[in-house]
Amino acid sequence: MWNRSSTPSGLSDSGSTIVQKNKQKWPPGHAVKALAASFLIATSWALTPSAAAQVSLPTLGDGGDITTSAERRLGDGIIRQLYRDPDYIDDPMLMEYVQSLWQALLAAARERGELSPELDERFAWEVLLGRDRTVNAFALPGGYLGVHLGLIGVVGNRDELASVLAHELSHVTQRHISRLIAQQGRQTPLMIGAMILGALAASKSPDAAQALAIGGQALVVQNQLNFSRDMEREADRVGHGLMAPAGFAPQGFVGMFEKLQQANRINDNGSWPYLRSHPLTTQRMADMQMRQLPGSARAPAPTLEHAMLSARARVLGRPGVDLLRQWVAEPQGTAFAALVPERQAGGLYAAVLAASQLRDEAAVRALLPRLREAAGKEAAAQRQARLLAAEVALAAGDAATALRELPSGEGRPELLLRTQVRLRLGSAAEMAGPLQTWVALHPRDAGAWQLLAGVWQAQGQPLRAVRAEAEAHAARYDYAAAVDRFKAGQDLARGSRAPADHVEASIIDTRLRAVESLLREQAAER
Ligand SMILES: [Zn+2]
Repeated sequence: MWNRSSTPSGLSDSGSTIVQKNKQKWPPGHAVKALAASFLIATSWALTPSAAAQVSLPTLGDGGDITTSAERRLGDGIIRQLYRDPDYIDDPMLMEYVQSLWQALLAAARERGELSPELDERFAWEVLLGRDRTVNAFALPGGYLGVHLGLIGVVGNRDELASVLAHELSHVTQRHISRLIAQQGRQTPLMIGAMILGALAASKSPDAAQALAIGGQALVVQNQLNFSRDMEREADRVGHGLMAPAGFAPQGFVGMFEKLQQANRINDNGSWPYLRSHPLTTQRMADMQMRQLPGSARAPAPTLEHAMLSARARVLGRPGVDLLRQWVAEPQGTAFAALVPERQAGGLYAAVLAASQLRDEAAVRALLPRLREAAGKEAAAQRQARLLAAEVALAAGDAATALRELPSGEGRPELLLRTQVRLRLGSAAEMAGPLQTWVALHPRDAGAWQLLAGVWQAQGQPLRAVRAEAEAHAARYDYAAAVDRFKAGQDLARGSRAPADHVEASIIDTRLRAVESLLREQAAER
C-alpha cells in the first residue's frame, strides 16, 4: 500500500531544508529527526545536497506490514546512494567469488522453501562490495547484500565467508528487515533510508560514529534498526541449515564464531562493525555448539583460490604503503618456504598485487613465476594466477603480455579484462559482440555497459556509445542521469544520416520513454 498523504512534500536542495520539512512533520523531541537529517549531511556516503535531493523512497504506510515491493523500492533508493559512494568497488574477481557463494545459498534457500517464489521474484538478490578494511556484511531492504573487503580478507576459508552470507540471507528470507521497518511506524521511507545510510556510514568510521554519538543519539538510531536477539538466533539456525545443501561445510559457522569471539576478547576497536550489529551472545554460542555434531571435524582447509582471493581483498582494502612493502618482502623471508601451501599462495598473490601497486615491476617479474608454481594443479587457482598476471601487465602498460596471460574462459573477469586489454591495443571491435550478448543476459551489469560504451566510442559509433552510457546509469537506478544521456543520444541522432543510426535512434526513443516513466515514479514516491 502506498500512502502518499503521509509522505514529506519532497526534498529540495539542501540539508537544512530537510530538517525544516521534518520539523513540520514530527512531534518535537522525537529522538531521531534531527539526527537522521544530520546523518544525511554528514555521512561519508558522498551525499552532496544534490545527491540528497535524489534520495527518493516509497511511502511505507502506517504500521502494518511493509509490502515486498515497498521494501524493494526502499532498498533501491538506498543502494542508488551506495553505488555513488567512492568506496563502492566492482572488482570482477572478488565479485565473482562472492556471487558464487551467494548464488549457491540462494539456490539452497529456494530448494528448502525458505525463499518464497514471490520474494525471489520481487527482490534484487544483488551483492555490493565496499572497499573498506573493517569486517562487515549487511543485508539491506529489498534483497541487497553489502560486503566489506575487510570481511573477505579475514575469513580463513570459503565456508566461513558463506556462513556470514547465509546468516544475512536468512535475515531477509525470514522477513526480519521488513519487521524492523514496520516497527518504525509512521517514519517515512526517507527517514528510514537516511537512518540506514547513517548507520552504515557510522559503522565504517569509528571516528564518525563517535562524532555523531554526542548525547548517545547515534546509538538510539542504530538500536532502532538492529535485529533482536531472537532474530539473530533465527538467522543462525536458518543460515546453518543452508550450508550443507549449498555445498559448504557447516563448520564454517564455528570458525566464524571463533573469529568473532577472538575479536570480542581483544575489544572491538572499531574494525569489526559486524560485531556491533550482530552481538555474539552466549545463547548464540550455545545454540551453535548444540548444532554441531559431536566429533565433527573442523572446517576443511582453505582452497588455494580462497587464499589468493582473500589476499586480494586485503591488498585492495588500501592497507597503506608500509603493509604493501611488507607483503612484497614476505616471500623473500627464510620462513616462507615452511608455510603451508595455501599460505604461500596467498602470500605470493598479495606480494604480486602489492608490488604492482607500488609500481615495482622488477618484483612483479620475480614473484609471478613463484605464484604460478604455488597455484599448483588447482585449476581455479591457476586461473586466478593468470588473471592477476594479465591485470598487472595491463597496469604496467604492457597490453600485449596481458593478452597472452589472459585465460581463455568466458567468465566476467575474462570478458572485462579482455575488453580493457583490447581497448588499449586498439582492437576492441571483436569485443562488441560478446559484450552485447553479456548485457542482454545481465542488463543490470553497469560495469559491462560502461565498457561497451568505450568499445562503441573506439569504433566510431558515438550514438551507440551514448546509449550504453545511459544504460549504465539506469542499471544503478540513476534514472535522471540516464535520461540525460538518452536525450544527448536523440540530439546526436538528429544530425546523423546513417541508416543504422535510425534503428539506434528508435531504440533510444523507446528506452527514453521507459526510463522517464521510472523517473516519474521515483519523483512521485517522495
Ligand atoms: Zn544478524
